[in-house]
Parts: sequence; structure tokens; C-alpha cells
Amino acid sequence: MWLNNILETIGNTPLIKLNKLTQDVPGTILAKVDYFNPGNSIKDRMALKMLEVAEQEGKIKPGGTIIECTSGNTGMGLALAAVVKGYKCIFTTTDKQSKEKFDILKAVGAEVIVCPTNVEPDDPQSYYSVARRLAREIPNSYHFNQYDNLANRLAHYETTGPEIWEQTEGKVTHVVCTAGTGGTVTGIAQFLKEKNPHIQIWAVDVYGSLLTKYFRTGEIDMKEVHPYISEGFGEDFVPLNYDMSVIDHFEQVTDKDGAVMARRIAKEEGLFCGYSAGSCLQGLMQLKHKLKKDDVVVCIFHDHGSRYVAKIYNDQWMMERGFLDVKSFKDIVNARQ
Ligand code: PMP
Repeated sequence: MWLNNILETIGNTPLIKLNKLTQDVPGTILAKVDYFNPGNSIKDRMALKMLEVAEQEGKIKPGGTIIECTSGNTGMGLALAAVVKGYKCIFTTTDKQSKEKFDILKAVGAEVIVCPTNVEPDDPQSYYSVARRLAREIPNSYHFNQYDNLANRLAHYETTGPEIWEQTEGKVTHVVCTAGTGGTVTGIAQFLKEKNPHIQIWAVDVYGSLLTKYFRTGEIDMKEVHPYISEGFGEDFVPLNYDMSVIDHFEQVTDKDGAVMARRIAKEEGLFCGYSAGSCLQGLMQLKHKLKKDDVVVCIFHDHGSRYVAKIYNDQWMMERGFLDVKSFKDIVNARQ
């Protein structure tokens, strides 16, 4: 038995029970570990779906150029799909992202353009503006725009949501999920709420993003926005992929708490996950008082830790940001001597 190409390995990722870290959390806590996708992240699902929908709608033809704003994971998914289906890829990203992410994208044939982080989205230098300009200038190209492209949430409505329902035999009571474009949390929520409207959907956001305040008040408050270190989630605008009516709660976590928790997930559960997985579980920890012993909670772990080895998995990097207290740093150094 064989698969026809790498794209056929996307999805059907394992749901793995957390045992040590969540001992004092009521209920069964499960992680949907989406680093098992071929591009090492959940974004493979929506990348393939966006390409399939664009092909069906005639927006791009083989030999054309895929253009996208991506922090890496969406780019990886699109790049894999492009290799198999015969497209070129140009990605715009920000200087805040891990260098490893750019190198990985280049390894699978993509061109990467790095843009400044701390500019307004409508500034001509922003990675959104550069992607839009390239799409206008390059013939037979298409800007996928994962933020407003509803094939993003559709991928999770069609795959991630049903997998969670089947893997828990319909027993899931809560889903906890970091929120960026909103595609993952909204698509999962739309599917699961159709199956059982009582399922609670908790989105996890970062301080410095305006999503939580928008969810609570409906106000787009730019005073909420400040630079943050966490990667992959939080936004300074509200993408069209959100349907806030299927989300029950937004919880904000700090850069430090997310990073520390990601390190604990690796050490205590053996799951070497990315930064946002730490933030996701930290969000759950902040809400554990709301859970009961029969609850079945699914936390979405978006990507793999290998992309963060020079960041959260580097003690010096953690120390420099005050994320690792001096006492525990001395313990690490002493243990090594
Ligand atoms: N975590 C990581 C590592 C991601 O790459 C993303 C996607 N930007 C998210 C979380 C948030 O997912 P979504 O964009 O579907 O809201």
C-alpha cells in the first residue's frame, strides 16, 4: 500500500492524552497534535484547501505563482502543495519570525521576502501590502490571503472538526485553540456546534492583540495593540475568517507564560511543540476552575518545536527576555557542570 504523494498524508492527526502537566485539572485533557502533518503544522490543511478552491474557481492555473503573507506554517503547506501540483511560490513575512522558518520555506523551493513588523497593515512596506502589490504585478498569480479567504476555516470545518468529533466519539465538551486568522478556531467551532451546541469553544489570544477586546466589546481598539513575542496567533485587525458567534470565550496569555508552558509540554509530556501550543495549554490552565471531572477537553497544538530551537528552546534567549528566572537558569548551568 502506498500514497500517491505527500499531500495525502495531511490530516488524521493523533489525539493524545496529557497526563502529568494536567494532573490538577478536572476532566480528560487531550491534545490534537497537528505537528504530525507533513509540513509539521495544522496549516497544511488550510493551505491545500485554499489551493483546491482557487483551482476550482479558476483563480490560478498550474505554472502560476502562489503569493501569500505567511509566518511560515501556511507557507510550508502551500509550498508542499505547489511542488506536487506545479506552482511557484512567493511569500512575504515579517522580520519577527524565526530564521529557521524562512530557510525551511526556501528548502522546498519558495521565494521569501522579509518585511518590517512594526508598521501599520496599510503601510506600503507591510507584508500585507507587498503581497497585494506582487499579485497585481505578476501575471497568472494569486494572493491567497489566508486572513479573509474562507477556504481557511472551511478546511477545519471539513477535517479538524470531524476528526475531533470522531476521535472523542462525540464526547468532546471543550475545545481550546489559539486564534490568529481565526480559521482553525472558527472552522472547528462551526462543525462541532452543529453536532452539539453545548460544546464550549475557548479561543486563546496574546496580550498585544486586539482580538480579545473586540470579542468582548465589538470595538476595534488600536490602544490594545503593542508588539509581542509569541508567534502565529493574535492580530492587529479582525480577519474575515472569524465568526465570533461560535466562540464562547477569549483568554489572553503573556509571552512568558506561553513560552514556559511550551517547554514544560516537551519535558513533561514528550511533545516537542511550538510556542502557540504552550500558549494554548496556558490558556486552559487559566480557565481550569471552569471545568468538571467528566469534561473532555481538546487543546489544539498547531506546530512542531523544531522551528523554535533558537528561541523558546534556547535558555539564553529565554533569560534575555526575563522568561527564565535566574534561579532556574543557575540550576540548569549547575546540572550541566
Ligand atoms: N499557532 C501557529 C503556530 C500558527 O502558525 C497559527 C496560524 N497563524 C496559529 C497558531 C493560529 O491559527 P489560525 O490562523 O487558524 O487562527
